[in-house]
Amino acid sequence: QVNQIWASSADGSAPIYKNPHYSVEARVKDLLARMTLEEKIGQMTQIERENASTAVVQKYLIGSVLSGGGSVPAPQASVGLWQSTVSSFQNGALATRLGIPIIYGIDAVHGHNNVYGATIFPHNVGLGATRDPDLVRRIGEATALEVRATGIPYVFAPCIAVCRDPRWGRCYESYSEDPILVKSLTDVILGLQGTPPAEHKAGQPFVKDGSHVAACAKHYVGDGGTQNGINEGNTVISYRDLKRIHLAPYIDALAKGVSTVMVSYSSFNGEKMHANHFLITRMLKTHLKFKGFVISDWQGIDKISTPPFSNYTYSVLTSINAGIDMVMVPYDYVNFINNLTTLVKTGYIQQNRIDDAVKRILGVKFTAGLFDLPFSNSVPGSVLGEASHRSLAREAVRKSLVLLKNGKDLHSPLLPLSKTAPKILVAGSHANNLGYQAGGWTITWQGGSGNTTIGTTIFQAITGTVSASTQVVYEESPDVNFAKGGGFSYAIVVVGEPPYAETFGDSTNLTITSQGVQTIENVCSTVKCVVVIISGRPVVVEPYLPIIDALVAAWLPGTEGQGVTDVIFGDYNFEGKLPRTWFRTVEQLPLNVGDKHYDPLFPYGFGLRTGVSRRLTTAKFTRSSSFH
Ligand code: BGC
Repeated sequence: QVNQIWASSADGSAPIYKNPHYSVEARVKDLLARMTLEEKIGQMTQIERENASTAVVQKYLIGSVLSGGGSVPAPQASVGLWQSTVSSFQNGALATRLGIPIIYGIDAVHGHNNVYGATIFPHNVGLGATRDPDLVRRIGEATALEVRATGIPYVFAPCIAVCRDPRWGRCYESYSEDPILVKSLTDVILGLQGTPPAEHKAGQPFVKDGSHVAACAKHYVGDGGTQNGINEGNTVISYRDLKRIHLAPYIDALAKGVSTVMVSYSSFNGEKMHANHFLITRMLKTHLKFKGFVISDWQGIDKISTPPFSNYTYSVLTSINAGIDMVMVPYDYVNFINNLTTLVKTGYIQQNRIDDAVKRILGVKFTAGLFDLPFSNSVPGSVLGEASHRSLAREAVRKSLVLLKNGKDLHSPLLPLSKTAPKILVAGSHANNLGYQAGGWTITWQGGSGNTTIGTTIFQAITGTVSASTQVVYEESPDVNFAKGGGFSYAIVVVGEPPYAETFGDSTNLTITSQGVQTIENVCSTVKCVVVIISGRPVVVEPYLPIIDALVAAWLPGTEGQGVTDVIFGDYNFEGKLPRTWFRTVEQLPLNVGDKHYDPLFPYGFGLRTGVSRRLTTAKFTRSSSFH
């Protein structure tokens, strides 16, 4: 089958692999036959941007370069600088004997989140609350455009983890605790890569054209099922549950043409996934017929052998033989290359294992058009953070909000708020903090505080929404007297978790900040209040729920704070339904829908609407719980 889309530079005299009129398969076969062992091992090596240069890529025949979390060519780097950075590595690759292009990869996990000025969409947990596969597909499409605009053809997204325990620091990267919801939201892949044609075979990688990117389903498999929610921990469950809960979304991702799969740092019943031949080779590649490439996580192979038995050669041997095709060796690539070369020359790793890896890597590179358009510059820089993308993000925020409580009794709802109230108090650490609103994986790996990028805070959105005659008073941490004496009609309190990523987010108490609790107590004990929680997961709220009039879960909404005001001021109704069980106390954890003795504060699928009695809402909840 000829890849017509990329067929721009037909040249009859060129070798088959350089001729876009041949099929991907024929091109891979032709190229593989021309390659030396050194060239093949280079293809399997992915290094960090910081350690890469035109010369390094050329000398070591490097196959891929990445930006790890927060790895940027300069603070607030422009689109032009991103493009020229990626191009400089590509120039090194194209100058090699065979001119095999690199594939540059980046974590674009909620929009193009490393890049200043990009549209930042809600993190996956918020998208789970929308339960809207088409919305998520459109977000994938917009993200792909923003990523391509910076010259990058490959993203380490989506995370299709099924987070079973909110104590896990990456729970917000997961759409839901329910595999069925996660499965439906793998439609993001159709947005990122484009929708494959009807005849597309499950397991075949697919990238539609230069406006789309290669995606990466991560982290294979069981990352969201570790004991006590410990990041990179051990998932101790039956093989049947692994398949039913954690593997299930991969079946959908493969059917939708996902090009690559990243292996999880976690272990399955004590065995590191990076060493798991059965799950990587036999299950994913043989049984599920995955034909794209399997990539390790960041220094993931190093963690196979841990002190006091660290042995890098063993790590390389075991991970490559388990079936990992491309290895993320951000720093010590020379050591990796030397070890792998020796292991092949001594027969510990078979030549056909190397050929399988390289075939897969080249297949994705041809599919993503890199041989024919190596500079990937078909999308204009102006799409970064463009208005239509921001309004899409605003729509997503709107649909992700979950109304958990509205009024101290059924007859006195607080929401929607009036735009013409005389005087409003806006309080809380998260009310006017864009960095907090966006969470981890935003500009820097751990996320930041304040105006880390371009966007609208919830406080700014409030001032832009209320009438000219409404007085909006902003006080981050008001004391009781301030709240009591201000003559406020009501208060909007925005509090939550500070940003975090990966292990830094592992938590056993799942509380919002103590400053946030204090603000709720000071304000809500004296003024009618709506509390908006900014968090990556359910948090402890039961102790102060009685003094709160209305409670909204806003997750980690990203740069478009107007999505929150659209709903709390009644231009749109609440649509979000809990994508996770909201526990009462951490002692109950893990607590998932379907568990015995299920006694949550708010059940999975819960979400009120304004102007609707509780009875009606309950009926609606029952319908949406048909997800199981
Ligand atoms: C994370 C991956 C990520 C990679 C590259 C790792 O620490 O686990 O999800 O894609 O870094 O930034």
